[in-house]
Amino acid sequence: MNHRKICFISILLLSAAIFGVHSACNRNADSEKREMSQIKKAPDILQRLARFDPTEITYDPGLLNAEQKQVLEKLVLASSHIDKIFWKQASHVGWDLKTKLENAEDPELRNYLRYLLINFGPFDRLDGNKPFIGTYAKPPGAGFYPPDLTKEEFERFIAAHPEIKDAFESPFTVIRRADSDLVAVPYSEAYRENLEEVARYLREAADLTSNPSLEKFLRQRAEDLLNNEYYESDCNWIDLEDNLVEIIIGPYEVYEDGLNGLKAAYESFVYINDIEEMKKIEGYLAYLEEIQNSLPVDRKYKDQEVVGLKSPLNVVFEVFAAGDTKAGVQTLAFVLPNDERVREEKGTKKVFLKNMMEAKFNKVLVPISEKVLSEEDVAKVSFWAYFNDTILHELSHVFGVNYTTLPNGERITVNRALKDLYSAIEESKADVVGLYSINLLMQKGWIPREKEEEIYTTYLAGMFRSMRFGVNEAHGLGTLMQFNFLREHGGVVYDGATGKFHVDMNRIQGAVKLLARHLLTLEGEGDYDKAAAFIRKYGAVDEGTRKILESLSEIPVDIAPIFTTAR
Ligand code: ZN
Repeated sequence: MNHRKICFISILLLSAAIFGVHSACNRNADSEKREMSQIKKAPDILQRLARFDPTEITYDPGLLNAEQKQVLEKLVLASSHIDKIFWKQASHVGWDLKTKLENAEDPELRNYLRYLLINFGPFDRLDGNKPFIGTYAKPPGAGFYPPDLTKEEFERFIAAHPEIKDAFESPFTVIRRADSDLVAVPYSEAYRENLEEVARYLREAADLTSNPSLEKFLRQRAEDLLNNEYYESDCNWIDLEDNLVEIIIGPYEVYEDGLNGLKAAYESFVYINDIEEMKKIEGYLAYLEEIQNSLPVDRKYKDQEVVGLKSPLNVVFEVFAAGDTKAGVQTLAFVLPNDERVREEKGTKKVFLKNMMEAKFNKVLVPISEKVLSEEDVAKVSFWAYFNDTILHELSHVFGVNYTTLPNGERITVNRALKDLYSAIEESKADVVGLYSINLLMQKGWIPREKEEEIYTTYLAGMFRSMRFGVNEAHGLGTLMQFNFLREHGGVVYDGATGKFHVDMNRIQGAVKLLARHLLTLEGEGDYDKAAAFIRKYGAVDEGTRKILESLSEIPVDIAPIFTTAR
């Protein structure tokens, strides 16, 4: 950063000397300086920065041969252009502010720049997107729509021009004002310049690789990015085989669009498959049906065929990430693509980012466990257990039922039946059913018996990590329900004398079984009021828990990744 700043200033001075624009330049610099000193700034920037511990994300270069290293380099270069697109998508003001902060001389502003880079804009993602520098409020539609556009105007315009509905609601267009009208601009036009760079590097990587499936994917993706049509290369991505170095790159998740939840944000992951670990994980798939059958719930609430898991399960080393996924809290695992056509024909790929998990485990989970557990129990918190808990959580989303029958006979998805409560119940179900399945997996000899205490104790420490996300977030609320329920049923015990928590190994299994039954039944019945009552009962933070969570405030919420390859 400093190096770049020095370069920039010397270029300025040089051009001033050459073109005789010294005084004009100074005037601009002065007014900019004044502007930056007067801009409203959050006083607690250092505390905010401390929530993200800068952490190097590395991999073992010995895993790759010379060709693979060259391919990897091109993929990282392609990826780095994704950041530029996401800056524009995340807000209308972020990029300009970034440039101003990069050029500012006031050293205090460096901290605001660092936090701006973490958040991809002046809005604090851990604080409901409130601005931490400046007073400009983030428009719900981020940079995807004109900042003043309301949902009502958007819908009114579509109603008045039904022929443009598809283009306006496409995940792959931005909405702009043109005179008094609104227009939908395809991503491939709006971000053309950056996408051409991305496509160029993807093609160069395709030229270098000797893996036919990777070459096919890269060429097709380059073309698709420029044509704004992703189906073909999404399929090619699922079909990648016998490969170490891979990339996923393009517009995917729609969370950044808070106006309509329609527009996809660009992101990319460059990663290396961990073949050995993948073989181990595949072993889980053999037990899915038995787990489903063993669930402690009425037959009709676990009657669905366990599908959607024939597709690949990748454990990987993340080498580089860009765009949407890099903003704020880092991704641990992802399931892509989102295109329903691809999902039906090919399934999805579940990708677990093992080195990212490890970084979070060390920087966040271990310090939390030191606060909430006894010394003896801290020793039982292991990365092995954390990793396997995470895998089981992801797999457990398939258990139970997807559809429910309402009292009037209508058959709808559980998601539609439970509406806004669904995510918290579903995330909680995935945690608890995953944990419940441990017993069967131990009986089968897949998980060693002696790991039992490790698993439950690591899970207990992990609950405190998730509860910090707060009750307004599905994982936070879902975890709080588990925590309160397991305490009520004696599986988790608080020792008032030491101020520490522990797992009661005699009671935890029974409590987990009971909770799994509750959650699977809530989904099976699809009764909104029952789910609401359950959440009211178990989803509240009591005084004691609030104090404990406050005592964790010094521990980072997440890491800020430093990708060593990007150097
Ligand atoms: Zn989940």
